[in-house]
Amino acid sequence: MMPQPSSDLPRRTSVAVPVDHVIIGGGAPVVVQSMTNTDTADVEATFAQTKSLALAGSELVRITVNSEAAASAVPEIRERLHKAGINVPLVGDFHFNGHKLLARHPECAEALSKYRINPGNVGRGSKRDPQFAAMIEVACKHDRPVRIGVNWGSLDQELLTRLMDENSNSDSPVDAAEVVHQAMIASALESARRAEELGLGRDRIILSCKMSGVQDLIGVYRSLAARCDYPLHLGLTEAGMGSKGIVASTAALSVLLQEGIGDTIRISLTPEPGGDRAREVIVAQEILQTMGLRAFTPMVIACPGCGRTTSTFFQELAQQIQDHIRHRMPEWRKSYSGVEDMTVAVMGCVVNGPGESKHANIGISLPGTGERPVAPVYEDGAKTVTLKGDSIAQEFQSLVEAYVERSYRRRTN
Ligand code: SF4
Repeated sequence: MMPQPSSDLPRRTSVAVPVDHVIIGGGAPVVVQSMTNTDTADVEATFAQTKSLALAGSELVRITVNSEAAASAVPEIRERLHKAGINVPLVGDFHFNGHKLLARHPECAEALSKYRINPGNVGRGSKRDPQFAAMIEVACKHDRPVRIGVNWGSLDQELLTRLMDENSNSDSPVDAAEVVHQAMIASALESARRAEELGLGRDRIILSCKMSGVQDLIGVYRSLAARCDYPLHLGLTEAGMGSKGIVASTAALSVLLQEGIGDTIRISLTPEPGGDRAREVIVAQEILQTMGLRAFTPMVIACPGCGRTTSTFFQELAQQIQDHIRHRMPEWRKSYSGVEDMTVAVMGCVVNGPGESKHANIGISLPGTGERPVAPVYEDGAKTVTLKGDSIAQEFQSLVEAYVERSYRRRTN
């Protein structure tokens, strides 16, 4: 059976930061977040994508606020989401001109639930400190939490140069990559300290230090986690497309999560042309669920198939059941308590089919090549029915529906 959500894994101690109704850190379940890729000034497109991300399960949605038009659009996007019954907190992503936009658009500052500030992109030279301070003052005024989000692609070059110089003058210099790691951490911690000096509460600060290399990310977060108790936002930046992006993100995040590091995650997948942006939400959920950290949706266990089952029938059935569950989950989540913990097995032949099916809540063992054309179904470990004929798929889907209705407590509200 798939691992169930576990509270046994160690969690790093961190301050709890409320973002509206969502708590980040303080031992709260790891929060899934995502980011739109629409032009925020396009209210309709950004509303639609935010809604889609929220319905897929994103618990925070970040939108870029990069222009006057984008800042003006934010309150309307917030209002449309409220009217649609979507109360997902919106996070504003600010770079370069954030200090001006937040000052000129107080209704935007109010409509956002959290601000993301990149200390490498708040201004150069003498402008940096006052512009950073201006954004923090807006956060204090509106009582909004801030993620201080360092990214190695936009690392504060003045800080990096200073640390490189100090390193080269040191008696025991480290390699350049290590100095970059130290600069990432210093940028986050120094910015957090300045934000606190400016009056931002300790329970209003979240940190991130995103890098695009798996080992770099793991090394930086281990050090960062050991040096502060701010909640940490995890993500491998520029993870890439398709399986590479998923594998790299999973490799990096699962090591850190296993060590109790990470309070919220975002998977930075590059969508394939025409691809669904919500895929990054599903990948984030699947990382947390397969690690046993949280449960979001029933898991389908399917065998990989082999020479013992030459038809594609079981692959199609596994896909169909997976799609059916995702389609039904918004309704099931509202109606049934605990259904997200359900496991469904779809297996290709008698070798592992009955065993795996017995371990799942409900499972089907399809006939392999040369086996009798029958498909026993197991529910809670016992064989309940044997399906045969042309409508096995539809009948099994109906059995899954009936299992949910029978086995999970109906919510009363
Ligand atoms: S359950 Fe059967 S079909 Fe599936 S991988 Fe195992 S032996 Fe092959």
